[in-house]
Amino acid sequence: MPFTLLIHGGAGNITPAIMNAEQEEQYREGLRDALNSGYEILKNGGSSVDAVAAAISTMEDNTLFNAGKGSVFTKKGQNEMDAAIMDGSNLAAGAIAGVRNIKNPIVLAREVMLHSGHVFLSGNGAAEFALSQGIEMAPDAYFFNKSRYDQWLEIRDTNYTQLDHKGDNLKGATAPLPNPGHKFGTVGAVAVDMHGNLAAGTSTGGMTNKRFGRIGDSPVIGAGTYANNNTCAISCTGHGELFLRAVVAYDVSCLMEYRGLSIQDACNIVIKEKLVKLGGEGGLIAVDAQGNYDFCFNSAGMYRGMRNSEGKELVAFYGL
Ligand code: ASP
Repeated sequence: MPFTLLIHGGAGNITPAIMNAEQEEQYREGLRDALNSGYEILKNGGSSVDAVAAAISTMEDNTLFNAGKGSVFTKKGQNEMDAAIMDGSNLAAGAIAGVRNIKNPIVLAREVMLHSGHVFLSGNGAAEFALSQGIEMAPDAYFFNKSRYDQWLEIRDTNYTQLDHKGDNLKGATAPLPNPGHKFGTVGAVAVDMHGNLAAGTSTGGMTNKRFGRIGDSPVIGAGTYANNNTCAISCTGHGELFLRAVVAYDVSCLMEYRGLSIQDACNIVIKEKLVKLGGEGGLIAVDAQGNYDFCFNSAGMYRGMRNSEGKELVAFYGL
C-alpha cells in the first residue's frame, strides 16, 4: 500500500519579508532532514508511529524549531516541554506535559503510550517515569539557545506570552509587544504507513514567557494531536488556548466520521471557519488512510513538508 508522511515546524506570521535566503535554506534543510528520517522508516515497512517519532525527534534536535533542544523559555526562565503521540490503528495514545531535561519529549510520549499503563503524565511524575525507563536526559545547558533566551529577556518582566512564531500577546498585556518578529515553532508529524495505519505526533516548548505549569493544545489528545484509522491523523500548531477550546484535531475527525466530509473540507471548516470565529490563529497537517492529505492554516504561513511513496516531495513555508 502507498505511504505518506507530512510534517510541520510551526505556523504563524511567516512571510518572505522575515526570511533571508540563508534562513530559507536552513529551514528547508531542517524540514528535509525530518522528512528523510521518517520516510526511511516507512519505506522499510516500519510503522507510522515510528516514522512520526523519528521525524519529530529530528526536529527536536534542531534549534530552529521550538521543541526539544530549541524550546522557548517560561516566565521562570526554564524550558517546559509538552508532547503527544497517537496510534490510529488502536487509538492508543501517550502524552507528557511540563517536562524538563528530556532530550526527546516525543520518545517519552511514545514510552508513556507503550509502557506506562496511562495516557498522560506531567511534571515530576513524567520525569520519574522517564528515569525508570532509561529515557535520555540532557542538562539545562543543552537547551540553552541565545536567540530564544533574548526573546524571553525582552518580555520576562511583562505579562506578555509570546507565541513563538507570531509575536503575539495575550490578555493581560499592558503595552505593545517589543520586537514582534521572531517566528519559529512547534513541530509535528502525521503518517500513513504501507499497512494502512495512521499516526500523529506533536512536540513543543509552548509559548515564550508562558506561566509556570501552563499546558497548551499540543499534548492534549483531541485538541492538538489525534489519529484514527477510520478518519485521519492530525497535528496542530498555533495559539494553544484557542485550539484547546475548539478541540481542533478531534473536530476534523468528527466531521469526516459523522458528516462524511473529505479531509480537505473538514480541515477547511475547522481552521478557516470555526477557529477564525473564535479568534484562533494557526494550522494543521492531516492525512487519511488512503494517503489524501492537507496542509491547512489561517496564518500567513506554516513551515511544512510532505513525502510519499509515489515520489512526491515538497517543502514550503508561505501561504498559497
Ligand atoms: N500550540 C503550541 C502551544 O500553544 C504553540 C505552537 O504551536 O507554536 O503550546
